Amino acid sequence: MAAVMSRRALACLFAAARPRGGAPFASPRDAPLRWLSSAAKDLPARDPRLFCVVGSGPAGMYAADRLLTHYGASARVDILDKSPVPFGLVRSGVAPDHASTKSVVNRFEGVLSDPRVCFFGNAALGRDVSVDDLTPRYHAVVLAYGATGDRTLDVPGEDTLRGAISARRFVGWFNGDPEAHGDDVETSKSAGAKNVSLHDEITACLTRHVSDVSDDADVSHENTATDAPTAVIFGLGNVALDCARVLLRDVNDLRETDICAAAFETLERSAVKHVALIGRRGVAQNAFSPKELRELLNLPDVDVRVYDDAVADLDEADLEASRPRRRAREAMEKRKAKGNETNEMLTNGDTLESIGVGRKNKTKTRKELSVRFLRSPSKLVARDDDATSLGSVILEVNELSGPPGKRRAVGTGATETIRNVALALRSVGYRSKPLEEHFTVKSHHEPDREPDREPDRFKQSVPFDAARGVVPNAFGRVTQSVAPAMGGGEWQVPGLYVVGWLKRGPRGIIGDNLIDAEETIGALVADDARGKLRKPDYRFKNRGVKTLLEARKKAFVSKEGWRLIDAEERRRGAEFGKPREKITSVSEMLRVANEGG
Ligand code: NAP
Repeated sequence: MAAVMSRRALACLFAAARPRGGAPFASPRDAPLRWLSSAAKDLPARDPRLFCVVGSGPAGMYAADRLLTHYGASARVDILDKSPVPFGLVRSGVAPDHASTKSVVNRFEGVLSDPRVCFFGNAALGRDVSVDDLTPRYHAVVLAYGATGDRTLDVPGEDTLRGAISARRFVGWFNGDPEAHGDDVETSKSAGAKNVSLHDEITACLTRHVSDVSDDADVSHENTATDAPTAVIFGLGNVALDCARVLLRDVNDLRETDICAAAFETLERSAVKHVALIGRRGVAQNAFSPKELRELLNLPDVDVRVYDDAVADLDEADLEASRPRRRAREAMEKRKAKGNETNEMLTNGDTLESIGVGRKNKTKTRKELSVRFLRSPSKLVARDDDATSLGSVILEVNELSGPPGKRRAVGTGATETIRNVALALRSVGYRSKPLEEHFTVKSHHEPDREPDREPDRFKQSVPFDAARGVVPNAFGRVTQSVAPAMGGGEWQVPGLYVVGWLKRGPRGIIGDNLIDAEETIGALVADDARGKLRKPDYRFKNRGVKTLLEARKKAFVSKEGWRLIDAEERRRGAEFGKPREKITSVSEMLRVANEGG
């Protein structure tokens, strides 16, 4: 029987193997591999190779694609996803007005249609099956479940106030993610004291005509009751740009995209006319893609103010080191050079009233974007008339410290306040979570399932580097460090591989996952050539996870079920000239997968 890699089993193997320590792996093929178990056996080339890919976002789909290519007719690939529907962030993370970015699903659909591939949607690792269920059934398991958490700002109010949410969840909202809209009330709840669905929370914030005045300020603003409320976005990355664009652009431009109908209706009624993009460092340290920044800066009917107070001479070195940053900086300069009255480039010393107030020339249709550098949030403050909702944001002014290329933001103690804030989006990066943190909430759809009450069965054995927020790996081979008392060093966990953001952290565009999958699957193929893959337990008869899910009476969505959901979404969208109208409830997805529209 193949080894079942529970934590206890891992510990026993470490003890038995008596590792002597050693250098980290050098390259996918030359890695000085050391093995925890002798379960791997040479297999004749004609034998089928059974693989399980956990996660059907870009990383998982490219990994499946590479496995099919490398193994040809002998490949069998089962793809598991927690969501009933495939394609992860391509479906729920790409902005609706970036349709061309989503065209990659055509390639992924090709992979899914392949007869060597099975899809199991609504089947979650950590909830419905464990790693210990999977590893004995496959030659290798490829983890591709991405980054489903967020980095935090660690400031008062960010977890408790309505209107303070992560950009990741906001993006999920306008993309129709069931966690924001669906009938899974538990998971759609915001953290902390908020007891409403994310959709209701965002709708209340965007459509309430805020006339907040907070006294908790050391800088005064003269907002009037007629001022339009502001949405503040922390972070200077592409997700921040996506959120700003969706909030600022003419909502009619979104009408015929795949934006979910409920989010569209809320945006149509939105009172927010001003978006403030706030960066903790300077323009020379931005993380924007220049093309996306240009798109935002040139939105029709949007006034732009860039507070250019962060490019001291010493930052030229940082700009010199990064072409995209230079291009982004140039895009801002170009906007300034245009010099029309709808766009301004402000310099250091501009009055603070200009931040986030947006009261100049405001008409019903004009909106305003302001970009402000060298500011960090120090506190999110409640409205005076509603202690549960966000009303203003206090910023601390920063200065840069450290050598070029390693500049850090250091607070100066000076503060500023942005008032009349309806929404604050934390767009400071995604974060992968250890598997055991994925399912702490009982699913509404499966009232009989209480994962937390089955700690042994679902106990996980995927190593996790909490400091880096990744599954530790060498070129995609999952590794586990061994305590010095047991010999020390990094050891490969047999049969377990990792791709995507879970492997390298939450950065890069969709296409980067192809190169990344090449590396991981290249390592896997090299391991196979050395006879180092696991051999599936013969008792499972090469049937993968399907029989297990059936035995557990799990309502999974097959690729035929996905076809029915896809057809129904397209049919609903066509009625309104949209490519699709996404189903936003898991239970409805399951019904359509079983019965059709
Ligand atoms: P990101 O590119 O890593 O940007 C994160 C931003 O948050 C940075 O400006 C960072 O500033 C800031 N930040 C981090 N911690 C902070 C803190 N404690 N306080 C204030 N600011 C903080 O992350 P992302 O925007 O979430 O994007 C994730 C990845 O997806 C990126 O690789 C992005 O390019 C990609 N993406 C691409 C597209 C596209 O191509 N259209 C669209 C969406 C996402 P510092 O530099 O100071 O740390």
